[in-house]
Order: sequence, then structure tokens, then C-alpha cells
Amino acid sequence: MNRELLEEQLAELPLYIYDFIDPQELEFNGRIRWICEHECPMYGKSWACPPGVGSVESCRGKCLGFENCLMISTIAEVADITDINETLATRPEHEAVTNQVGELMRQLGAEPYILSTEACAICERCAILDGEPCRFPERMHPCVESHGINVVPVLEERGLEFQFGANVVTWISLLFF
Ligand code: SF4
Repeated sequence: MNRELLEEQLAELPLYIYDFIDPQELEFNGRIRWICEHECPMYGKSWACPPGVGSVESCRGKCLGFENCLMISTIAEVADITDINETLATRPEHEAVTNQVGELMRQLGAEPYILSTEACAICERCAILDGEPCRFPERMHPCVESHGINVVPVLEERGLEFQFGANVVTWISLLFF
């Protein structure tokens, strides 16, 4: 894939940051999965979340099977970040940008494996609840945390800002290729 061409096109998108990282740099942490299991209401309710995505080890194996990873981030300002509905309302815009970047990469010959935000919301009721396979596996992106990935260390190592104040939401996607 021609990175220069991709970067020219990324510059046209409303990304706050993007960076290419080596998947080996990512931290896969069982503690993140523990939080999914014990604190997230979506656990077991979506193919985009654990345990539907597989074990952290299998997720890690899948991610490390790629040589590269493009990390992208968008930010959105909300009136009150503790208002979960207001915060989540900013998510579709990030998902749309993620899909745009995925499409650009495909046009340049890559076949990205995409991790994005929260649980998949494509179907009103996820097929996993009826014991059926995912209806749109090619469109569905598991969330970053579902794979046990802690992005904070890699952001810190690179000096990338990810907290911008009390009421700014930061969304991150990872596109492995
Ligand atoms: S595409 Fe539908 S079936 Fe697949 S994970 Fe998303 S909501 Fe569930």
C-alpha cells in the first residue's frame, strides 16, 4: 500500500491524529478483558465484544499476524461527558470516518482488519443473542478494548495527546494491515 498517497487522503479527513505503529508495540492486557466482563453491560451481547471475539490470546495472535497498524483518532466536544447518551451520540461520526479510512486503504490495495469503538450497532438486535452468526462480518468492527488492547502506553510513548479537558471525547480506531 502506498502510504504517501494514503497520508495525502488522511489529511483531508477530520482526524485529530493518526500514526503508523508496529502491532508488536501494543499492550494486550487481560485486565482490560476483566473490565469488559465485570463492568460493561455489552459483555456477551454482541459479536463485536467478548467473549464473542475470542480469547485475548487469540485476538492478540490475529493482530500480531499483521505487519502494520494505522491508529486514527477523532475528538468531539460535549456539554457533559458524564451524560452517556450525549457522549455516545458523537460515536457514529467517528465510525463513519473509520469506515472512510478503511475504504481508502482498500482502494490502495490493503485489506485492513479494523477495531473501533464500543459494541457494534449495525443491527437493532445482535444475532449473538439468538445464537446466530454475525449478519455483516465484513462491516462489523470489534471494539479496541474487546481485544484486550490498552492504547494508552503507545500514545504516551509517542507523546500523543489523548486527554483534552473535562468534556472532550476521544475516539480511537486501529486498522491492521
Ligand atoms: S453486524 Fe449485527 S450481528 Fe454482527 S456484530 Fe453487529 S449487531 Fe451483531
